[in-house]
Amino acid sequence: MSLIVQKYGGTSVGSPERIQEVAKRVKRWRDKGNNVVVVVSAMSGETNRLIELINATNPTGTAREKDVILSTGEQVTIGLLSLALESIDCSARSYTGSQANIRTDNAFSKARISGIDECKMCDDLEKGYVLVVAGFQGVDNEGNITTLGRGGSDTTAVALAVALKADECQIYTDVDGVYTTDPRVVSNASHIPKMGLEEMLEMASQGSKVLQIRAVEFAYKYNMPIRVLSSFDEGDDGKSTLVTREEDIMEEVLVRGVAFNRDEAQLTVEGVPDQPGVASNILGAISDANIEVDMIVQNVSNEGLTDFTFTVHRNDYDQAKKILCETGKTLGAKACRGDDKIAKISIVGGGMRSHAGVASKMFTALADEGINIRMISTSEIKVSVVVDEKYLELAVRTLHEAFELDTV
Ligand code: ASP
Ligand code: MG
Repeated sequence: MSLIVQKYGGTSVGSPERIQEVAKRVKRWRDKGNNVVVVVSAMSGETNRLIELINATNPTGTAREKDVILSTGEQVTIGLLSLALESIDCSARSYTGSQANIRTDNAFSKARISGIDECKMCDDLEKGYVLVVAGFQGVDNEGNITTLGRGGSDTTAVALAVALKADECQIYTDVDGVYTTDPRVVSNASHIPKMGLEEMLEMASQGSKVLQIRAVEFAYKYNMPIRVLSSFDEGDDGKSTLVTREEDIMEEVLVRGVAFNRDEAQLTVEGVPDQPGVASNILGAISDANIEVDMIVQNVSNEGLTDFTFTVHRNDYDQAKKILCETGKTLGAKACRGDDKIAKISIVGGGMRSHAGVASKMFTALADEGINIRMISTSEIKVSVVVDEKYLELAVRTLHEAFELDTV
């Protein structure tokens, strides 16, 4: 008997009718002789509605209380889905995060899962119940309710799959898998049937929104295969993307996909002394403010002076700029400036490990379109560039075509 963990996102459980459809699908998997654990999100729009209620009441209030409110969306869905399953003669039991003993740290609103007491639910599984577990929530050491950050139900599903040693973790959403890029930008983006976990990790961290990045990190760390599929497909044999261990990928491709992110902003401090400690001064002040830095470039020094450029999330732009300009002043910088109209575009593919020339092909393709590259960074399996935001769509389309991703 296989154990399957399935996760249904907000649109998949967006109405009582949708929940009935999900129940039928779960029952089909159960009837085929599988043990099934289902993780659900809040009904679509519900988490946003709860955030609005919080903001209308006390936006600067305590994080602990906010999580108490935010976690209720998923609690409604587990109850409804369990009732729907019961109505079609499929025995089910609902579990909140704390009933399932999904333990987390106490970083409210962005808690990390530290462990799951899988045996809490073993009895029910053995008795043949479908377990319906609330995503996005857990409990800290003191019994406080915590939430895992937006999109966190994906992470709950993968963590449960790992803890229960599931055969597969299926993530049901409103698209039938991962595409070579966002089909809203490139209409002939291709569906990817199978890809590596590490590739997915890079795609997610470079801006692909199909799976929550923490979920992919978890899956990568524990080698748990994830299948992304659509809950809007009629049957159970529609298209899907299997994100799996690298050794299970038969054919390594040079470029698997093009990811992009317009949520970044660029900051530069000019003419600071090229001395030990300067980078740590500049970036230390930024990280002390809990601002995460993405790309970093330091220029070759000229007459003992150098420039520093880095990117941060656009939401942190104003604060980061203020901090940077203050630090710059104390270091005797010539100027500090920034730009929040930038975008980052990345090509990702496991085959880059063994092939040279990918980056230069990328740069040539962009140059041919007259797109100026502002920053470059690379890892083993990705190349990222920062360009003016107004070139984002053109750059994505250009790279998608240059690497022939519409024909894969
Ligand atoms: N309901 C939460 C959200 O909207 C968690 C999730 O859907 O994964 O972010
Ligand atoms: Mg969601």
